[in-house]
Order: sequence, then structure tokens, then C-alpha cells
Amino acid sequence: MTADTNRQIVLARRPVGAPQETDFRLVEGPVPTPADGELLVRTIWLSLDPYMRLRMGTDLRYYPPIPLGEAIVGGAVSRVVESRHPGFAPGDIVDDYTGWQDYAIARGADARKVDPALGPLSTAVGVLGMPGLTAYLGLVKVGRPAPGDTVVISAAAGAVGAVAGQVAKIAGCRVVGIAGGAEKLRYLTQELGFDAVIDRHEGDLPAALASACPDGIDVYFENVGGPIGDAIYPLLANGARVVICGGISHYNATEPPRVASHLAPILFTETEVKGFNIFSYGAHYEHARRRLARWLADGRIAFREDVVDGLENAPVAFQRLFDGRNFGKLLVKVSAE
Ligand code: NDP
Repeated sequence: MTADTNRQIVLARRPVGAPQETDFRLVEGPVPTPADGELLVRTIWLSLDPYMRLRMGTDLRYYPPIPLGEAIVGGAVSRVVESRHPGFAPGDIVDDYTGWQDYAIARGADARKVDPALGPLSTAVGVLGMPGLTAYLGLVKVGRPAPGDTVVISAAAGAVGAVAGQVAKIAGCRVVGIAGGAEKLRYLTQELGFDAVIDRHEGDLPAALASACPDGIDVYFENVGGPIGDAIYPLLANGARVVICGGISHYNATEPPRVASHLAPILFTETEVKGFNIFSYGAHYEHARRRLARWLADGRIAFREDVVDGLENAPVAFQRLFDGRNFGKLLVKVSAE
């Protein structure tokens, strides 16, 4: 790459099932030029998130699909190279959905200036960015945890789940995490203070969950969908809340997923089941971010990152979200800070 070349990873074809490396293509072109009100930014950290798989499909109920041949959508932390917006200067660090590319044009009206004093720059797309805000606001606004509640979280060792569990601990709850593999389970109990953990690949999930939740489940933070629900819903306590945050087990589905009927336990316990979309909670971002940053500074929450070097490795790294090989917030380091 020369100073006047921009590499982009574009969608070569729509994935069928799990994403493959051949669904993506690396292309080179000129570095773009900003117009009035815009910024030219150089990507430092690229965030890989499960929702990107949905944008590669054609489901119009979600956000618009990525057109074939265009750069993959994605949140990134970048440095301003050139600014044609009065609110930004070269050298500023910004967070915006500028996608899988070395350089991008950001609209000054959309970009968020990152405060490097709050934490390492990468946290702007992690614990202090979209996943952290999702965990905090999904749990607090929809889950409404109360001291003594039992809170169960799936994909608990991931970017969202790990923060949700730690916020629930701060709220005085008993926290049970479901994750894949012994190393993740050890991390959840020994480093993040989860009270109980369950390996989704091992043993009898309903029995393990029943034994971990003797008083039932007051809050379920759903990140994965699929068969885990069959174990969760029979254990709901009266007045439980279910935060439908994600359903990663469905994102690669080629057939409509089987959705088990959980009507009886929801009805009998008067459980509130609510879909959650972080982008509907923009008014609460800064309050939530400040609170998470304070807990981070005080050592009350910790985070873990899974870093892959090089933009060209993003397609292979992305696959790890869907087989659980990522351990922590999945990031691509595109250039030096
Ligand atoms: P993670 O870092 O948690 O990575 C995904 C994890 O999901 C994997 O590591 C794996 O964990 C688990 N997983 C993958 N495939 C399956 C499967 N088939 N069945 C069960 N578990 C599976 O990702 P994020 O924290 O970034 O995202 C978590 C969820 O939150 C996603 O569903 C995402 O779409 C959603 N989300 C929703 C938002 C909203 O506004 N509603 C905003 C942001 C995220 P393991 O193997 O350990 O179980």
C-alpha cells in the first residue's frame, strides 16, 4: 500500500450459511477526498460484530443490505487526516461506521470524537462503545435488574455478554453465564466474578441451568437464540424480564429457524419479553459511557480483546464469531495508533 492507495474489503457475493473467505474481495483504489462537512480518516481499529452478517444478507427488516462490490459496513476508531468540518482537526480520534478499509470519508455530523482519557482507543468500539452500551442499556433499561435477582446471560464471555454480566454484578445480582469452552468459563468466574457458569457444549444444559438457578431466572439476556431457550423459559421466575438482544445462532440460517413455543411459561410467570436495539437508545449513550468509563477506571469492570492484525485478515477473523473461536471483543488492528 502506498500513501495514495486505499485498500477496501468488499462484499463479493452474499454468504450462504456461514461466511466464507471467498464471499469477500480485497480491492485497491485511490484515497478519497473529503467534501465540505466531511473528514478523511485513517482506520486504526476495526470492530468485527455479528450484526455485519445480517447486513450481508437481504433481509430488509434489518438495516439495508450491503450492496455487492461495496465495502463491508463496520464501526471503526480512526485518526482524522484531513478535516473539512469545523468540529474536527487533523490528529483527532473519531469513532464512526466507516467500514472495512484503510481510509474512509466520515461525515462530521455523524462522527463521534473519542476522548482518549476514558480508556485505550480500542475501547471506543468495545466496552466504551457499541457493545458496552448495548450491554449496559439492554440490561438496565429492559432487564431492570434488582439486588438478589438471578440474571442469566448467553455468549457471556463475548463483547456484550461480559459487560452485561459485570453490570449485573454491580447491581447486586447473582449472575450465571453460558459460554463455550473451559477457558471462557474460567475467565468468567475467576476474572469477572460470575457466580456460576455453564458450558453450552457439555452435558445436560437444562439440568445444569436448573441447578445454577435454584430460585428461577429473573432476567435472561439473550444473545444467541436457538435451543438455549428451551432450557431458559421453563425456569423463568414470576415477573421475569427477557432482553432479546441477539440471536447469533440464526444469523447463518438458510431455513427459517425453529422457534420453540415458550408461551406457557411466559404467560404463567407474566414475563416481559422485549426486543432491544441499541440504536433506539441514543439519548442515553453518553450517560452510559461515562458510567462504564468510571467503573473501568475504578477497576470494577474488566474487558478482554481478541486482536487480529491486518485489514486483509478481517474476512477470516470474522468467521470466528460464528463458531465461538473469538474470546473477547473481536478487533482488527488496521494501522498503528
Ligand atoms: P461475541 O463477542 O459474544 O461473539 C459471538 C459469540 O456468540 C461467540 O463467541 C459464541 O460464544 C457465541 N455463538 C456463536 N455462534 C453460536 C451458536 N450457533 N449458538 C450459540 N452461541 C453461539 O459477540 P457480541 O458480544 O458482539 O454480540 C453478542 C450478541 O449481541 C450477538 O447476537 C449480536 O448480534 C448482539 N448485539 C445486539 C445489539 C442490539 O442492539 N440488539 C448490539 C450489539 C450486539 P460461546 O461459544 O462462548 O457461546
